[in-house]
Amino acid sequence: MKAKKELLIPLSAVLAAMAVTLIIFALYREGVITPLTFKRPKELTKTDVGETIPYEPEEYCENLLLVNAEYTIGEDFAPHVEYYKDTDVLMNSCIIDDYALLSSYIRETYGQKFCVSSSYRTYEDQQRVYDEEGPDIAALPGTSEHQTGLALDVYVHRFSGFGFIDCEAGRYVNNYCQEYGFIIRYPEGAEDITGFSYEPWHIRYVGQPHAEIIAEQGITLEEYFDLFEIGQWYAYEDYLISRQDEDEITIPASCDGDGVIVSPDNTGHVFVTIDQSS
Ligand SMILES: [Zn+2]
Repeated sequence: MKAKKELLIPLSAVLAAMAVTLIIFALYREGVITPLTFKRPKELTKTDVGETIPYEPEEYCENLLLVNAEYTIGEDFAPHVEYYKDTDVLMNSCIIDDYALLSSYIRETYGQKFCVSSSYRTYEDQQRVYDEEGPDIAALPGTSEHQTGLALDVYVHRFSGFGFIDCEAGRYVNNYCQEYGFIIRYPEGAEDITGFSYEPWHIRYVGQPHAEIIAEQGITLEEYFDLFEIGQWYAYEDYLISRQDEDEITIPASCDGDGVIVSPDNTGHVFVTIDQSS
């Protein structure tokens, strides 16, 4: 009798442990809890890459162009744009794949068509918008990032402009667009930095890992640029990032050139982004 009782206590403890494990597993699967302890730390940290060598890119990516009142683009600036699928919406070629992913997620999850009211504008288009809407609403030609094809004004049926965040799809875009390489370019409370008041409908492509870092730190594109000392290398997850003089581009000597993206930033510098997982 005594022996049986001793056996029962550990058995109940085992059953209780199993129950707790099952509950934790169920909560994890439902997304109620996340395995924080298993996530790799996401932090942009200075890193020593050792010896570096000069690098001449075969092509450049336009994802990190800064366009604002201080860093303008000229009348003859011609970004790489193309029509999105079979629409008449022109966007920068580098954003098309990620935009398609975001668009299909919105359609599948919320049953709504993700629409673009304004995308690429030429200098002349911007001049026309400026003349029609005036300086309080429209950006001066040369200072609008719509001229890069990287910015999109988006909406779903019945929810546009500020009303965009009154629907689930709009809130999703505002909270998670960084997963698709986009940022909310003119966030609330950053007017002094961006020169624009809050625009929940204006998404801007910057690509990865830049969009993730900007969203995690809750900063603007202008502030993101300031995080980087020129010529210094930084590590973030599997990426290496360096902001450099545009006529002195280097990569680590240990890098064979795979996964290297060079992005002129319209300030006389380039961003070198290396995806080490590729
Ligand atoms: Zn816009």
